[in-house]
Amino acid sequence: MSKRQLAMVMDLNKCIGCQTCTVACKTQWTNRNGREYMYWNNVETYPGEGYPKKWMELGGGFDAAGDLKDGIIPNIQADYGVPWDYNYESLASQNLLGKDADKDGYSVLGATTPGFHPTTQPTWGPNWDEDEGAGNFPSDNYFFYLPRICNHCTNPGCLSACPRDAIFKRDEDGVVLVDLDRCQGYRYCIAGCPYKKIYFNPKISKSEKCILCFPRVEVGLPPACAQQCVGRIRFVGFLDDEESQVYKLVKKHKVALPLRSDYGTQPNIYYIPPTESPAKFDENGKIIEGSTRVPMEELEALFGKEVHEVVKTLKAEQAKRKETGESEILDLLISYHHSEMFRLDNNYYQEVAKAKGQNPLAPIDTRYIKGKNTKVLFGGGHH
Ligand code: SF4
Ligand code: SF4
Repeated sequence: MSKRQLAMVMDLNKCIGCQTCTVACKTQWTNRNGREYMYWNNVETYPGEGYPKKWMELGGGFDAAGDLKDGIIPNIQADYGVPWDYNYESLASQNLLGKDADKDGYSVLGATTPGFHPTTQPTWGPNWDEDEGAGNFPSDNYFFYLPRICNHCTNPGCLSACPRDAIFKRDEDGVVLVDLDRCQGYRYCIAGCPYKKIYFNPKISKSEKCILCFPRVEVGLPPACAQQCVGRIRFVGFLDDEESQVYKLVKKHKVALPLRSDYGTQPNIYYIPPTESPAKFDENGKIIEGSTRVPMEELEALFGKEVHEVVKTLKAEQAKRKETGESEILDLLISYHHSEMFRLDNNYYQEVAKAKGQNPLAPIDTRYIKGKNTKVLFGGGHH
């Protein structure tokens, strides 16, 4: 257990599935060097197969006795999907009337029709089933977006599964990192993580994962996914800081819950469950008063039995706001100013660095930063 723990709360009522977070993360960390297929942050449609495909059925995590459960390592091609590109270059030279459509050699998909095409035959990818959801249109169909990053678990399955002691959890803030020098690419961590949020880099035969943007966090900036979030759904701070939004939502008001806590890893990413689904229609297309499209059983499967109490609290709070105009919870969730969503502390990190006898402006973590593989990948180490 770390001395302190960073946490994130994501308000699912506000996520619009725009993937800005995904792109913010990808352009910052995973668009190169064998990481192309990885999404340290992804936003999936729920219900849906997710990313990697059917990740909830792939095992890992701990049983009730605290023993690590067996897990499956997803297949890069079949379960994540290999990133593909488009025929940008050939597009301009194509005869759009179709006569010499593939004169430039473009024939993927067997297409002789001109136009915009992937350069390989895609079979799977993140968001393959985006916005499909469940139920029958238009009477009771539904879905919501589920953004996911590594949970920087208090009891990480990835760390327990690693026979090389290559995964570590920082004492200062609970961030879970891979020591790339120690990692030998055995991939036990991938089997051990029930969220499948640690990935194999085939280019260097090492495992890699979300680093919670620690180089940003250490200078007082939120992770890129949270900073860029268009829906302003992400709160970031220390769980022991009673002034932080995460403390208030998780501990004080108890309206934020971890995803699949039954996996036993004690995740530190929390969610405000979706409460605002539209009513269902009857066979005549009339609104069924009091009905709600997202079934509570689905929410219970994701967030545990506590979700019933959370939904009640949130509904009661909305009613209170209507009657009295007051509600600390709603004020927090609305977050009128962007700066009200994050409480980070660069002084804290500077003090940690000083106590370790390090330059207070350098990242506090020597094990991750100093590795020779880290230097190769990050172009010198300090980012
Ligand atoms: S979510 Fe997975 S990769 Fe992240 S700390 Fe937990 S077990 Fe490890
Ligand atoms: S940027 Fe925010 S609103 Fe957009 S998909 Fe990501 S979490 Fe959802």
